[in-house]
Amino acid sequence: MKPSPESQQFIDVELQYGANNYAPLPVVLDRGQGARVWDVDGKEYLDFLSAYSAMNQGHAHPKIIKALTTQAQKLTLTSRAFYNNELGAYEKFMCDLLKFDRLLPMNSGAEAVETALKLTRRWGYDVKKIPENQAKIIVCDENFHGRTLGIISASTDPDSRRGFGPFIPGYVVVPFGDAVALELALKDPTVAGFMFEPMQGEAGVVVPPDGYLKKVRELTKAANVLMVADEVQTGLARTGKMLACDHEQVKPDVLILGKALSGGVLPISAVLSSHEVMLTLKPGEHGSTFGGNPLACVVARAAIEVLLEENLAEKAAQLGDVFRSELRAMNSPVVELVRGKGLLNAAVITPHQRKGEKFTAKEVCYEMAEHGLLAKQTHQHIIRFAPPLVITEAELSKGIGIIKSALTGF
Ligand code: PLP
Repeated sequence: MKPSPESQQFIDVELQYGANNYAPLPVVLDRGQGARVWDVDGKEYLDFLSAYSAMNQGHAHPKIIKALTTQAQKLTLTSRAFYNNELGAYEKFMCDLLKFDRLLPMNSGAEAVETALKLTRRWGYDVKKIPENQAKIIVCDENFHGRTLGIISASTDPDSRRGFGPFIPGYVVVPFGDAVALELALKDPTVAGFMFEPMQGEAGVVVPPDGYLKKVRELTKAANVLMVADEVQTGLARTGKMLACDHEQVKPDVLILGKALSGGVLPISAVLSSHEVMLTLKPGEHGSTFGGNPLACVVARAAIEVLLEENLAEKAAQLGDVFRSELRAMNSPVVELVRGKGLLNAAVITPHQRKGEKFTAKEVCYEMAEHGLLAKQTHQHIIRFAPPLVITEAELSKGIGIIKSALTGF
């Protein structure tokens, strides 16, 4: 796929002045509305990535943009040196909705994960009485929780870790979806928490076996260990329920949210937990200049109201069923597997030759972009499909058509 001369100009400036830590498709976007985006040449695309599930409510949702622009003219940031008149109402709204006692506001997903890690260790020392500096946190193989040093210390991905050591100790890795391995690791009395994604997003939309979440809940409770669910990607209606943990009616001890918490408008993240866990933090022990700013509080509240008012969890469940059954019905030899829940899905591609050339997930993504659908490969052979949940049935069916054609050859 060859960018237009105008697109190429934007790409060239980034290539010259930016860091080289991403490899985007050569598409330069300029505008978005709902499930659609347009590039600088005016070409229209269906957005089947949703900024890695941050745009669940769709691009430029009028209610969220109105909340943003109204509040932006009034008060944006006070820091936590003072109270503001939006934070408490937002915290109450979220706690009432998700049935937690307290919320700690942060900005990016990674910051919320860091916060959860610190809270877990602190609870381990203050409440569980783990001897000083011995607390461990169990994580899963192939996890993705973000990019900070504390988080990549728990990563098993060589690309995330190479050249960034020394790492922070205190992690134990178990295979994802393996309750027996978890049970064994939980025997260590210095374990404070088990942090995991209820469905692994970046690993390629890996769905654990049925019953895993319930088992995690039982095992962690029995071991007096915090169950820490990272729902930054799976949360907020994406998988067909408000939280992916809701699929098995389990409630974690610590819940991490980000991405769609702002409908893709601002970096807004949060950690929710109980009085017991949250109140281990005292003034001056953790914080963020921007966390809990009134602009973010108003935007997050509007973003969650949109999910509720437009029944986006139910919509994701229903459209996700259509999406998977249509793709599975293709019976294509190049599609090994289609998996996912709600509108968080992936196709595992068999690398093959087409017109004498190597055809992997990346080439499929390029071909789909040519025909008006944006998605991104994760690893060499997996393509994630996660359109905004506001996508219409007609748009979904157009998208499915483009995906099928790209997989079978236009
Ligand atoms: N946790 C999960 C499960 C994620 O998928 C991501 C990002 O993809 C993060 C945390 C990190 O979020 P952010 O990129 O906002 O720091």
